[in-house]
Amino acid sequence: MARPQILFPLFAEINALPGVGPRIGRLIARLAGPRVVDVLWHLPSGVIDRRFSPPVAEAPSGRVATLMVRVESHVPPERARRPYKVRCADASGTINLVFFHLKEDYLRRVLPEGATRVVSGRVERYGDEIQMIHPNHIAPPEEAARIKTVEPVYPLTEGLTPKPLAKAIRAALERAPDLDEWLDPAFRAREGWRGWRAALERVHAPSGEAALDPNDPDRARLAYDELLANQLAIALLRARRRRRSGRPLTGDGRLRARVAEALPYRLTEGQTHAIDEIARDLAGPHRMLRLLQGDVGSGKTVVALFAMLIAVEAGTQAALMAPTEILARQHHAVLSPLAKRAGLRVALLTGRDKGSARAKRLAEIASGEVDLVIGTHALFQEDVAFRDLGLAVVDEQHRFGVHQRLTLGAKGAETHMLVMTATPIPRTLLLTAYGDMDVSKLTEKPAGRRPVETRVMPLSRLDEVVAAVGRAIERGAKVYWICPLVEESAAVDQAAAVARHEALAKLYGDRVGLVHGRMKGPEKDAIMAAFAEGSVDILVATTVIEVGVDVPSASVMVIEHADRFGLAQLHQLRGRIGRGSTASTCLLLYASPLGEAARARLAIMRETDDGFRIAEEDLRLRGGGEVLGTRQSGLPDFRLADLAVHGALLAVARDDARLILARDPALKTTRGEALRCLLYLFERDRAVGFLDSG
Ligand code: ADP
Ligand code: MG
Repeated sequence: MARPQILFPLFAEINALPGVGPRIGRLIARLAGPRVVDVLWHLPSGVIDRRFSPPVAEAPSGRVATLMVRVESHVPPERARRPYKVRCADASGTINLVFFHLKEDYLRRVLPEGATRVVSGRVERYGDEIQMIHPNHIAPPEEAARIKTVEPVYPLTEGLTPKPLAKAIRAALERAPDLDEWLDPAFRAREGWRGWRAALERVHAPSGEAALDPNDPDRARLAYDELLANQLAIALLRARRRRRSGRPLTGDGRLRARVAEALPYRLTEGQTHAIDEIARDLAGPHRMLRLLQGDVGSGKTVVALFAMLIAVEAGTQAALMAPTEILARQHHAVLSPLAKRAGLRVALLTGRDKGSARAKRLAEIASGEVDLVIGTHALFQEDVAFRDLGLAVVDEQHRFGVHQRLTLGAKGAETHMLVMTATPIPRTLLLTAYGDMDVSKLTEKPAGRRPVETRVMPLSRLDEVVAAVGRAIERGAKVYWICPLVEESAAVDQAAAVARHEALAKLYGDRVGLVHGRMKGPEKDAIMAAFAEGSVDILVATTVIEVGVDVPSASVMVIEHADRFGLAQLHQLRGRIGRGSTASTCLLLYASPLGEAARARLAIMRETDDGFRIAEEDLRLRGGGEVLGTRQSGLPDFRLADLAVHGALLAVARDDARLILARDPALKTTRGEALRCLLYLFERDRAVGFLDSG
């Protein structure tokens, strides 16, 4: 199951292309990626139309034109730093070509006096004078046809000029092999699409602005190829999951009954419904892959607990994985007393466990002495073996990559999976990551929740805010103080938090605590604990508290520079308060002047606390691809497809993929072979592996 030979040239390093040296290679790699195929996927973002070829006197100012002129005379600068001019003319008028910092002998060579030349560039007019500064092309007349075309314009990066990039792309195109067609011929004909290679060439040689449209047939074809590879890979994964008959887990309800009794509250209808859906999946013939979506504070954790109890009732173990150490500890602190009431043994496993303590823990997990394991990424490690893992729950799944999720699933051959997220994921995005994953939603909040009063204020009123916070802690409130995300740098964020902590501590002394991402684990725990039930009343924090942390008594949150946060993030943060019985307040502080988009975000925050509505607004404000910030979302990053535009194609690709596998499950037909090649082209090698191993 290795990549087919025909694709080798595409997966070679770009340095292998003629004319791409180490320096240019590095720049292109930074811009597009390190391999030939990455350069092919680097599509034009604009065009320059050089076909326009008027007489000199009629060339309009500001427009690119290609002119046929006679070189009349060279006018070297009289003084230093003045431009070098070359006077040219045609029958209609005169134009000066203007150059800075270019050698006279070079200019005399390319523009000899008396010769005719084609020059192409932007025409400028100053009063009566017509000029062209640094023409993009200067060539003898016989090359006019080569220049009078529509030229693609590519996104660039600092230090890289258009010519070497264009050259590399042309060289990459020359290496692109003819591949057998993987699309259904009737479908392709209906869409009027060209073959893969022809489409690729056309996309790099746009005929005009219109060809840049993502719905242009050639662009659409390439986007469809990418989506089909994605959907086929997912369908293969799913088929494999289905082939491996699941292991039905049914519990007798004994543990669930005991825990329900111990709970200080009653489950909401939504929670009960979600637990029922999970129970049905677990009892069914296939391996479960279910997503539990629910806003911050909607009570997903207890649903996870009940799911795990079913697995334990059925005689297996269950694991819950959290994205951060703080969160894993918190889950452990909340869940283990409940689980113990039901007689369960619970272990915590994080990156902090080392040496013999870790070895002991691993032995307990392997022997089955513990029923529930709660942990962080540490659960992925290869030496972690379960006696019999029936269910794996992944919390705040968007923090983990797809790969990590699959690794945990692989710890038990038939392990059922439940993934939980507070970030509502639009359906199209879900499809690309999981295919038809089953979804449960918690839409209502647990009873007794009070809405959070949200106020928006300028940072100039900071003194008032500090005083109000002082009054609040006198009344017994617990306050989160979130410090700005100044830059994408932990060090800088931390400095801001440290400074705020110092300023507040001057007023309120030991009652102010600080927690940030670079602190050591035990230090963080101690402060979180002191905030949860001890002497710390104001917790200054960077966004480390963003996910999941639960201190129900906290009722005030101040967010500095709220204008710099995204909607989803603000919503997540605010979800930390309003969990207890007292009325809660969230103060969003912004720096003036407030930009348009930031103003809109803050207005939405003031208006609603409905996570699904906020996610929709986020999608509207930011547009398709960015809803989750793909990098941290664990969702695939497309090079050619844009889900905001190609949503309809995605649905077609999904149906196509299903049909393909229904007819040719092992991809053995001629088209099947071509589809394998498509999978390799888009680096779905793993999916091809599922085919071969069955
Ligand atoms: P999230 O969905 O954000 O993970 P949690 O599971 O942390 O939310 O729940 C938030 C808080 O709500 C916790 O303190 C939890 O004890 C409480 N809670 C959960 N379910 C209920 C319920 N049915 N009634 C009252 N409180 C609940
Ligand atoms: Mg949670």
